[in-house]
Amino acid sequence: MKLKLRNRIVAAICSVCSWFGTSAQVIDYTTYPIYTGTDLGMSYTPQRTAFRVYAPTASRAQLLLYMQGAGGEATNRIDLEKSEDGTWYVQLDGNRAGTYYTVRIEENGKWLNEVPDPYAKSVGVNGKRGMIVNPETTNPANWKNDKSPLFKNPTDAIIYELHVRDASIHKNSGIQAKGKFIGLTETSTKSLEGKSTGLEHLKELGVTHVHLLPFYDYNSIDEAQPEKPQYNWGYDPLNYNVPEGSYATNAEDGIARIREFKQLVKSFHEGGLRVVMDVVYNHTALTQDSYFNQLVPGYYYRQNKDGSFSNGTACGNETASERPMMRKFMIESLKYWVEEYHVDGFRFDLMGVHDIETMNLISDELHKIKPDILLYGEGWTAGPVQIKEADQALKKHASQLNKIAVFSDDIRDGIKGSVFDHAERGFASGLLAMDETIKFGVVASTNHPQLDFSKVKYAKVPYAAEPHHTISYCECHDNHVLWDKLKISMPNTTEEERKQMHQLALSIVLTSQGISFLHAGTEFLRSKQGVENSYNSPDSINAIDWSLKSKNSDVFEYVKGLIAMRKAHPAFRMTSANAIASNLKFDTNTAKGIVSYTINGEAAGDSWNKIWVAYNGSDKQITKSLSKGKWETFVIGNKISQRKANKTISLAPYSCAILYQQ
Ligand code: CA
Repeated sequence: MKLKLRNRIVAAICSVCSWFGTSAQVIDYTTYPIYTGTDLGMSYTPQRTAFRVYAPTASRAQLLLYMQGAGGEATNRIDLEKSEDGTWYVQLDGNRAGTYYTVRIEENGKWLNEVPDPYAKSVGVNGKRGMIVNPETTNPANWKNDKSPLFKNPTDAIIYELHVRDASIHKNSGIQAKGKFIGLTETSTKSLEGKSTGLEHLKELGVTHVHLLPFYDYNSIDEAQPEKPQYNWGYDPLNYNVPEGSYATNAEDGIARIREFKQLVKSFHEGGLRVVMDVVYNHTALTQDSYFNQLVPGYYYRQNKDGSFSNGTACGNETASERPMMRKFMIESLKYWVEEYHVDGFRFDLMGVHDIETMNLISDELHKIKPDILLYGEGWTAGPVQIKEADQALKKHASQLNKIAVFSDDIRDGIKGSVFDHAERGFASGLLAMDETIKFGVVASTNHPQLDFSKVKYAKVPYAAEPHHTISYCECHDNHVLWDKLKISMPNTTEEERKQMHQLALSIVLTSQGISFLHAGTEFLRSKQGVENSYNSPDSINAIDWSLKSKNSDVFEYVKGLIAMRKAHPAFRMTSANAIASNLKFDTNTAKGIVSYTINGEAAGDSWNKIWVAYNGSDKQITKSLSKGKWETFVIGNKISQRKANKTISLAPYSCAILYQQ
């Protein structure tokens, strides 16, 4: 979900473009030919380079060659030949690597804009021309031996959501290549206080997957001015199959952005980390002038009845995944990132804009080439879309999605309060009525005999058929970060109290079933100074301040300990809804403010026979008698503390306890 404010601004601009657009038309896409070959775009060999462009409505199509990625005149204009199923084709002899190109079509007697084809594998600075690339020259040393770390079940994933620039741009990151892909390949980097940073920090924390905010080529940063202070999250796609130039050490060199991103992937894999790519196929940064639209006007987008662009993304347009050539583009683009870049998973922005059939085809195709790929998305839209609701990949249809998870806004807002109502609190900040929503989060939105679904914050039904359908989280890049949200919603509390709430919130995330998801820096109380929507805020707001790792080292150690516990104990990541329903029992008649439950660890295949977890969301100390048997503590009062437990246990305000029997 992009933020409401940003959406309104973008939508206002974009609705102007679509209003004055020249090709307002309702498309009957079923009359368009379908090309089934796999050679769309540029295909390189040292002997020749071929181009195939899908442009069924064109009367002519042309390829223009350039010496440079930007500026200068075309050295050649070559007509493409009309070929099968709406495509145009040309083959150039000789080794053309390093040549830049555009394509354009003539329609109704008029040439449309020159664009790189949507399948372009590299581009010139700012992504306005494609580049002929010899893929062999883009590989870092030893690339062919690159291997993803072992990974078994989706519920084993502990995802860490990170922006490439945020990771290293702060002056105290100790990283040389600040803001760049290769900044995240540097080893032994340390903060001023001597704590590990960047890649070393990610390894130390112990997460399994690093989800990087969009790093395909996006539109909002002027790559030609690397020294100019600029920032964007990157939810404004330009070239889907090319890494973003501003993250490369030289955006003018079409090879650097490819090689340097591959270096990042390789370093992550060597460090035991998998890479998840945040993808935004639901809309394009440009609408009328987008590269899709200049080749097949209207085809790749849904239209309203009056022919204007439908806008279910609040970004000016929405793509049409149900149309065969858009569906094909998505599938082939995703496969390309897996095969060429060894990416290990995808997060789908506004997945509800896409149709279920396309998402399941994507899942099938990607699992064929990488059986342990991780797929998840936002099960919502940012406005009405032009396909039937029953066909949309929405949260409420999660059980129809094949091995694709959805973000649980129920647990997110149940823990800390609504992202839209700034004053609203959640269970971890004392809104005790959220207890049933917390339980719903604990069971990963699956069916559980003890739950009263009518009391759950948003969903009134268990939408996840299996725990791998649910992403358990309490914050992400959108909206206030947890630490800021607690301050805004609990203005009359001390920093120490909010620190306990923060740790309770993360305890709930990391003990819940399903797939865990953390936003970068939360493990040491990252703040964005109260900025709710930092998509284009300066580095002073977005950069990760690595001195916080020392300042809040107790929080860091705690989160690291919880991650290690989750990885060592399968009872927290059961693989089926049936196992959760039979092995996890909530305590009944608990004091107000307590959610607690016992897991039959033995039945769940865990080395702990019995596990008892309790969350105290109240501001009171609560004493609880333990059931019979010899209990040991693992966590008490939001601290890792391993010792024998007494017969009764005292639960501090806003705290988590985890006990076990061997
Ligand atoms: Ca760019």
